[in-house]
Amino acid sequence: MKKFLSLLFLSLFLLILLPNSISAASKLSKIVLDGQELALPADVKVSIIDQSMMIPLRVVAENLKFQVNWDQRSRSVTIQQNAKAMMLTVGKKEAKVADQLVRLDTAPRNMNQSVVVPIRFVTEQMGLAVNWDNRNKTVYLTSPPQNPDQSKVPNSESEADNTEPLTHVSQIHYLNQQLVIRMDGQVTPKISTLTNPARIVVDLPNTTFGALTQPLDSAMMGKLDVSGQPDVSEVRYSLFSRDPEQVRVVVELSQGNPASYHQEFIGDQLIIDLSGTGSDPQTPVSSGDENERKIVVIDAGHGGSDPGTTSISNKHEKDFNLALALKVQELLLKEPEIEVIMTRDSDVYPTRTERVQLANSLNADVFVSIHGNSVLESPQATGTESHYYQRSSSKQLADAIHKRLVQAMGLKDRGVKNTSLQVIRETHMAAVLLEVGFLSNVSDEQAMLSDTVQYKAAQAIVDGIKEYLSIT
Ligand SMILES: [Zn+2]
Repeated sequence: MKKFLSLLFLSLFLLILLPNSISAASKLSKIVLDGQELALPADVKVSIIDQSMMIPLRVVAENLKFQVNWDQRSRSVTIQQNAKAMMLTVGKKEAKVADQLVRLDTAPRNMNQSVVVPIRFVTEQMGLAVNWDNRNKTVYLTSPPQNPDQSKVPNSESEADNTEPLTHVSQIHYLNQQLVIRMDGQVTPKISTLTNPARIVVDLPNTTFGALTQPLDSAMMGKLDVSGQPDVSEVRYSLFSRDPEQVRVVVELSQGNPASYHQEFIGDQLIIDLSGTGSDPQTPVSSGDENERKIVVIDAGHGGSDPGTTSISNKHEKDFNLALALKVQELLLKEPEIEVIMTRDSDVYPTRTERVQLANSLNADVFVSIHGNSVLESPQATGTESHYYQRSSSKQLADAIHKRLVQAMGLKDRGVKNTSLQVIRETHMAAVLLEVGFLSNVSDEQAMLSDTVQYKAAQAIVDGIKEYLSIT
């Protein structure tokens, strides 16, 4: 509630300060992170869309030190730092933050060939405090204190002085598919690759510029002349941070070249070799779509020696469960972003523990267990119910599937329930157990055993899973 109120306050605040609700690209003079102005590339503009400040994704990646992964196919971006992570999708006013769906005021969008995201949302969700000084067009970002007791102690700087001496960069050049950085000591570089456009970001901790042979502007930034180098479009360098000091070099690759590299120190030179790249433009830019696919485990309840409940016309629950589960599988196999795994696809009985272990060992994203209810002594009992256990991710998944499943089945809505059942309790991902209907009820049974209704139900389950996974 407090969060909501502060967001409300902030949006009112912005409403007053930024009367133009229609997008107007305006020049952002500064982003100040923890009292330190970030060195932004000259062409970075902030746009105001529906009262939200939008910044290009590469600023998030390169200047805010967040790890950014862009997935072109789903048009979604994962932003990560330490244990915090969020997923935003272009055009979607919903973000996934720590397994929760959170609404955005303004959806990320494409603008001037780059993706822009709302800076306030992104930074606040990452735990930073955000303040906007409209007069100076400055965004002030404040990181949460690592240790609240020492956050502002002045002698924390002298501690830094006691650590290893600074390393100085004296030369940066790029030739024959090699980035060479000469310095007066060896540091362990932190190298990350980013996509769209593909680039390699080399961070040199505890490093500053010495007497650099390449030009540096007043913002401690510069660019190499790479006009004769077909494999790269730009190589830029900057003093990325002053406290602690850190030099950053960004190699932007020409279109179609994947960001892969080999690094080594030879004497006083750090060499980032890109010659393994660029030979095959078909090579995917990211680490591969296979890794991006969501794993969905479909569990047909019971099976083999365990028939489950019995229907009013003496049919076994296990057969209904399998028939529906196979239809869900059939539909999920058409989803390029989903990998479907069945706990069983025939009349066999894996134990509940084995089903749980399978899903956990796969590190699955979603677990859906399919069942049919039956209370032979109360044949009037009817309807669809969905069970989750405690986790909010499971509740979201259950809600997304349940509302569709009720519609597809056309039966009474018995609700979404928090229930302690082994397969949804001991699995570690979003997990739901569906009691699709009552096999002990004449009309429920008729619907449940109809192929047509089963396909509708399967589609409802698939659509619910896709909503939960933010797959459009
Ligand atoms: Zn069952």
